[in-house]
Amino acid sequence: MVKVTFPDGAVREYEQGTTIEDVAGSISSGLKKNAVIGKIDGKAVDLNTPIMQDAALEIIMLDSESGLEVYRHSTAHLMAQAIKRIYGDKAVKLGIGPVIEDGFYYDIDLETPLTPEDLTKIEKMMEKVAQENFPIRRREVSREEALRIFTELEDPLKLELINDLPEDVVLTIYDQGEFFDLCRGPHLPSTGRIKAFKLLSVAGAYWRGDAKNKMLQRIYGTAFLKKADLDEHLHLLEEAKKRDHRKLGRELKMFTFSREVGQGLPLWLPHGAKLRRTMERYIVDLEERLGYQHVYTPILASVELYKTSGHWEHYQEDMFPKMVMDNEELVLRPMNCPHHMMIYKSDMRSYRDLPVRVAELGMMHRYEMSGALTGLHRVRGMTLNDAHIFCRPDQIKEEFGRVIQLIRQVYDDFGIKEYRFRLSYRDPKDTEKYFPDDAMWEMSQRMLKEVVEELQIPYYEAEGEAAFYGPKVDVQIKTVLKKEETLGTVQLDFLLPERFQLEYVGDDGQKHRPVVIHRGIISTMERMTAYLLENFAGALPTWLSPVQAKVIPVSTAFEAYAKEVAEKLQLAGVRVESDLRNEKLGYKIREAQLEKIPYMLVVGENEMNSSSVSVRKRGAGDLGIQSLDSVVAMIEEAIRTKVID
Ligand code: ATP
Ligand code: ZN
Ligand code: ZN
Repeated sequence: MVKVTFPDGAVREYEQGTTIEDVAGSISSGLKKNAVIGKIDGKAVDLNTPIMQDAALEIIMLDSESGLEVYRHSTAHLMAQAIKRIYGDKAVKLGIGPVIEDGFYYDIDLETPLTPEDLTKIEKMMEKVAQENFPIRRREVSREEALRIFTELEDPLKLELINDLPEDVVLTIYDQGEFFDLCRGPHLPSTGRIKAFKLLSVAGAYWRGDAKNKMLQRIYGTAFLKKADLDEHLHLLEEAKKRDHRKLGRELKMFTFSREVGQGLPLWLPHGAKLRRTMERYIVDLEERLGYQHVYTPILASVELYKTSGHWEHYQEDMFPKMVMDNEELVLRPMNCPHHMMIYKSDMRSYRDLPVRVAELGMMHRYEMSGALTGLHRVRGMTLNDAHIFCRPDQIKEEFGRVIQLIRQVYDDFGIKEYRFRLSYRDPKDTEKYFPDDAMWEMSQRMLKEVVEELQIPYYEAEGEAAFYGPKVDVQIKTVLKKEETLGTVQLDFLLPERFQLEYVGDDGQKHRPVVIHRGIISTMERMTAYLLENFAGALPTWLSPVQAKVIPVSTAFEAYAKEVAEKLQLAGVRVESDLRNEKLGYKIREAQLEKIPYMLVVGENEMNSSSVSVRKRGAGDLGIQSLDSVVAMIEEAIRTKVID
């Protein structure tokens, strides 16, 4: 007999060799039905694993997080089996097939490039194999045996994986019907357990993520326990696609890219430029009221400047290469900090002058990997709502608090509700990226945490996300595809003041070193635009909309009055367009709806004779006929108060 201890502390005795599945069955038939794997002394194993000695046992249910992962990984095997049935055992070489958030993928090497139709074909075959309900069985193999098996199968990818595994690792193969795969497991007990899945897309992926290797085909898929859950997820994906800012940016004529201009270098079209200008005016005005001093500095600087700052040593990979001139070497700046350090240094500073808050809508260029470029989310040329606060150590907390306050105000005005603060530390093992000064890091990280706790800002922590010069508080948002991204950021820096030898004269008449707080509130104009478009599905709040009102005459006979209405709105500061085309009214209204314009003002005989307009409000519908004056006042008010409408 063996003693089995359950998570709740209960102990039961079983005959040696009893499988986990039978143990589950001895407790209840429901447990047996929903169990997917077990954990023996913390190690995940298949259900049919026999218990050979006293052990702690946890039975993992299918509907738990790890249960779903097993389910999805087994679906990846099912897919591999289906592909091999269709294209032939030796025609398909299998790379790796891990579980990812919301699904799985498998990298395969196959001559035929797979099309969406092929995916449907593969899905059909997967259904068939699932119905055949093969038991999924684990077997241990020696290294020699494994090498022999995959040599026979002519699969160089698996052979490479085997050869790279440490000597002492136990190799296992999972069998299901005619199919087998080298895999650590664990797996579902049988293919019949897999009920609801979908293959989503194919993309190119280098073997082992290395561009020197062969390009494989990566097939993405997802699986859920129930068809209804799968359908809901697919619906969410569809919705997310509709909100993709690249699609909306095209439809709403906000921005474009051109191969001739260069990858990741956006061109802002008039509508996008209006949005951007609105954000820029807003933030510059607000910052000036809060004591920031806006400056202009060049987007180029001498390599020397970046040697001083440390960028040359720690950030060069992300920079465009230098330009070698007659008597100097220049680079496009990847960050604005060094320029602002020089602005600070341009004058004598006394303790009474601090804090000095130097701000700029600073254009920067970063050589982001081409695979990472995504619309406006990640570009190579961008403009950051940047500022550097030079302060005394005793002012850090106060200044930090003000910045957090500013973030809250701005995000509120932009209608951004869901964001989290992340404390980003260095990764002490990454000595290449991070400046090697343990004492400095420990001090600044501790200080940052203290400040954040004192200010009672809720936060979570992450290692390896700091800037090379110091730790930060990042403002994390989620994109429609549930990917986390950084918008705002506040960083504490003791390093650059040192490297640039910054000073102020204290009340003791001595020279002291200031501290620098780097901060971006809106983030780059590019990333914020991408975020806003997706967050509002293109229907931006009135105050941010490129076109806030559209005047639509019912026929060309009312063109003159339409122009009069538009002019009045324009004088009141409303961004307005008129649709004077000789088209049907319904058609023009539908187009304005597609353009997501907040206010449509329809004018005809009645409206003209009574100095009024018929109002259609986005999201609210027909508001009826109203005097022009009251409508102008209503729109002005919506803009002034920045309603999220
Ligand atoms: P990320 O981790 O997103 O690459 P980072 O940590 O390098 O950013 P910072 O140097 O702090 O970022 O830049 C300030 C802000 O600029 C970021 O918080 C982010 O919102 C934005 N940003 C950074 N890189 C890009 C880019 N390539 N395209 C658009 N916006 C960017
Ligand atoms: Zn596997
Ligand atoms: Zn900076």
